[in-house]
Order: sequence, then C-alpha cells, then structure tokens
Amino acid sequence: MKITGKLLINGQWIDGQAGTYQAVNPATGESIEPVLSKATTGQVKDAVAAAEAAASFFRRASLEKRAEFLRACAEEIMALGDSLVERAMAESGLPKARIEGERARTCGQLNLFADVVEAGDFLDVRIDTALPDRQPLPRPDLRYMNQALGPVVVFGASNFPLAFSVAGGDTASAFAAGCPVLVKGHSSHPGTSELVAQALAKAVKKTGLPAGVFSLLMGSGREVGSALVSAPEVKAVGFTGSFGGGMALVKLANERPEPIPVFTEMGSLNPVVMLPKLLENSAEQVAEAFVASLNMGVGQFCTNPGLVLAIESPALERFIDATSACLAKQPAGVMLNEGIQQAYSNGVAAISSQPGVVKQAVGESHEGKSGFCGQSTLMTVSAVDFIANPELTEEMFGPASLLITCKDLEELQKAICALRGQLTGTIHAADGEMADYDELIDVLSQRVGRLLINGFPTGVEVCHAMVHGGPFPAASDTRFTSVGSAAIYRFLRPICLQNYPQELLPEQLQNSNPLSIWRLVNGERTTKAI
Ligand code: NAP
Repeated sequence: MKITGKLLINGQWIDGQAGTYQAVNPATGESIEPVLSKATTGQVKDAVAAAEAAASFFRRASLEKRAEFLRACAEEIMALGDSLVERAMAESGLPKARIEGERARTCGQLNLFADVVEAGDFLDVRIDTALPDRQPLPRPDLRYMNQALGPVVVFGASNFPLAFSVAGGDTASAFAAGCPVLVKGHSSHPGTSELVAQALAKAVKKTGLPAGVFSLLMGSGREVGSALVSAPEVKAVGFTGSFGGGMALVKLANERPEPIPVFTEMGSLNPVVMLPKLLENSAEQVAEAFVASLNMGVGQFCTNPGLVLAIESPALERFIDATSACLAKQPAGVMLNEGIQQAYSNGVAAISSQPGVVKQAVGESHEGKSGFCGQSTLMTVSAVDFIANPELTEEMFGPASLLITCKDLEELQKAICALRGQLTGTIHAADGEMADYDELIDVLSQRVGRLLINGFPTGVEVCHAMVHGGPFPAASDTRFTSVGSAAIYRFLRPICLQNYPQELLPEQLQNSNPLSIWRLVNGERTTKAI
C-alpha cells in the first residue's frame, strides 16, 4: 500500500489544507518520504459530521455485524504485510520483533473485542417484567441495557505505534461498544497511522458500514485535537500521553456546554518495593530482572519501574551494586522521537539536581551514536528527602529509576503515602514475608490499578481481568481500564425501556432471547427465554 499523506474523512482520502510535514526517522534524524498533510478545523467538522451521521446505524447494527467488522479490521491490518512493519520501524526506531509483536497484539485485541461483542455480557441486560397485580401499585415492564455513547475521539499514543494508536485498544473498545471513532493520529508515526487507516477503511467498506464509522485526522493537537474534543457531536475521548496533554483535554471537555468524559492514561512511576528477606536471599537475581524491565523498549512504557523502595541493609547495598554493574553495560537505545529524548534527558537532569539525589550508575554513553538516544540511569535518595520534595515524583519517561532508601518500615510506609495514583505497584517478597507487611501492602494497593507480587510491571496482558488505569493522575477516571476487554465500559451508557412493545424491542431485550445472552431476569441470572 502506498502512503499518500492524505486524511480519511467520510470514506474519502483528502489532502489536508493546514500545511505539510514529514515523518522523521529517530534512528538517523532524517526525514522520511512522502510529504504529508494536516487537517484544518473545517476538515475536522466534516469528519465529525460523518461520524454523527454513522452513529445511529452503527449503534443499532447487530452484534454479529459489529464482530464481523472488528475481525475484518484485524484481517486487513495483517494483509498490509511487511510494508506496515517496515514503516513502523522507520518511524519509531523500534525493532522488528517488537513491531511484529505489537501487530499481533493489535489484531488480538480486535479479535478479543469481537468475541466480547458476540458474548453480549457487556450489554448488562436486566429485565424486570411487569407486575400488573402488585399492591399498592402495579410495576411496569422495565428493560435495561448498555448502549453506545456516540462518536469517540482517540488520540494515538506515541509509544505504541500499533497497539495504542489508530487501531489500538481505545479504537477497538469504542468500535466494540458501537461508537464511530475519529482518530487524531500521532505525528511521531504518521505513515504507520495512514497504512492502518487504509486497512480500517477497507474493513468498513467490506462489511457495509457507513463511511463515517472511522476517520483519520493528522495535525497539531492544539488545533486538530482541540477541535475534535470541542465538537458538540463527540461524546467521549480516549488518550494516552503526557500529564499536560491529558489534563488540557480534560479541561477542554469539562468547559464544553455539554461536558463529556475524557479517559486519559497519563503515566506512572510504578513503585517497586523490595522487602528485606527477599533482598537477603536474591539481591543479585532481582537486580538483573529489574534492569531488564527498566530498559525494555528504552524505558518508554507507562509501566516502566521508575521508583524502587527498600529498607537500608547490607542486602540493599548488594542490590544497588548489582543493579549499577548491570546498568553500566546497557547500550544507549534509540528513543521514539526528538521531543521524547529531550524530555527524558531534561527530566533526568532535573531529578538528579534535586537535594539529596545521587546518580549511582549510568548506561553506555550515546556519544558518537546517530539518532535520538537515551542512556539508562539509576539514582538514589533518602526517604526523608523524597517525602519533602514533590518534584521527585515527576515521571522520567525513559530508562531511569529512582531508588528510595528508607531507615525502617515506618519510613517506607510514609514514602508510599507520599505517592499519588499509579498504574501499578509491585512487592518483591520472600516466601511468607508478605504476612509481616499487611498494612504496607494495603496502603500501596490503595494507590494503584494493578498490584503485582514478585514480577515487574512492564508487559501488560490484554485479557478480561486486566486493569490498566488507577487513581489520579495515573488515569483521569479511576473506575475504568484502558487495556483489556473491560475497556469497553468507558464508551457505554445505560438506557431503560419502560413498557416497550415486544416487537419493537432490540433483540437483546426480547422475551425469546434470540441471541442466547446472559441476562438478569427478575433478579435471576439466566440465558432462558421469558
Ligand atoms: P503528548 O505530548 O501528551 O501528546 C499526545 C497527543 O496529545 C498528541 O497527539 C498531541 O498532539 C496531543 N496533545 C498534547 N497536548 C495537547 C493539548 N494541549 N491540546 C490538544 N492536544 C494535545 O505525549 P507524547 O507526544 O506521546 O509524548 C510526550 C511525553 O508524554 C513523553 O515525554 C512522556 O513524558 C509522556 N508520555 C507518557 C506516556 C504514558 O504512557 N503515560 C506515553 C507517551 C508519552 P501533537 O501532535 O500536537 O503533539
């Protein structure tokens, strides 16, 4: 497939009228052909109007049709073949295996949501049949189900050019809910975005859906992104990126005449607590696993272990020495783009210049290496200095971590209390050791979306039980996950149909239960007909 630099609006590929730009290869710093175009706010309006026009049809389309569409999206992405992999590698600096893995994850997500749609549990159907003879008042017939919110804006994330971008988790879950999607593509991988959009446009056509079900708009966040979020027809937003960007969108959405939900995932320090016995038993092994997790994807994961907490001891010294030795051998890696590389090196410089912070170890230098490279870094600070300085809770988006050394359990617990909401929290404990840290574990669990034991937080499984979210500021709405099948609930709202004629009810609410889905009928979970 050829990259044209056009935008996808209402099924048509159209030149953007707000200027041109080119993608940049972060491994070389060179521009990549061809020249690409940016959308105007007028073009945003056209795309939003098309999404609104498609919304009613898509919301009411059968579950079978929606599942067919999701599976067609996955098939068409795979059909792009090597051209997609090569372009994504050139635009992101990520290796082939990672991009191929991400493609598999993207298609896996789409197929998972197709299964979720067919199962119908997300509809949460509840039926209370009429009780005409009830005293003192009769009960009407009441039927409840979840339905699509309406057009959703998705901001492609820079750090997952496939799995959290144009056809990523936000898009797949919005489609599964029955919502048209307008993607504001990330300028870090625009060619990749266009190729995936070509695949989705084919899937829309193949399954006979209205063209406005999916659009791709490229351009600046402040213009294109803001225009999309402000459009009255838009009913929700999905975003992964910086705290500043996410909060700007939350503010914009709340200031609309009709405020709408914005589901942002804005990063996390992902604290890892190393308990004393565990360090005594295996400081060196856990140090090696920690460095591997820290450097995965050059640290550009929202679940990167950016903070380690432990109580001072000879075993902790062994852990610091082993981590430093391992980290010093890590080659500098190519980061996603120049902005992210600069933000990373500025972030490390800012943290390392704070009172009490000591730079313990750095990875291999990137001097003489081409491209936008990031160097691994380990810093340490005492719990007292950490608690006194909120600057130290700033995310360094890259392969850097800050180790908090605590005098005792009380200080460790206070340091955890100083943390804001996190995507993940991890405890490393020897057999039976956790029982002595009951309260500490409870305190940590109240600050995270996912609590792990003896593992590392990188590697987010896409499945039914995943929570990728957490208390603010990890996410703007702590009640929802952005990864896994439960992500669908962000884009649904309940509706109740009262005394509705049987022949006009949607299939999921009909007495005969033609879809054989699970329903709560007069308080009983059943797949039986009424
Ligand atoms: P970003 O700057 O937040 O941008 C993400 C998307 O939001 C882009 O499409 C951007 O548009 C748009 N945007 C940003 N600010 C906006 C605003 N005020 N109004 C409307 N739209 C806006 O994130 P990024 O480019 O991916 O990376 C920058 C930094 O974000 C990283 O250094 C890192 O600290 C953090 N980050 C965190 C995660 C995470 O998982 N938590 C992931 C990626 C990045 P433009 O195209 O105009 O930039």
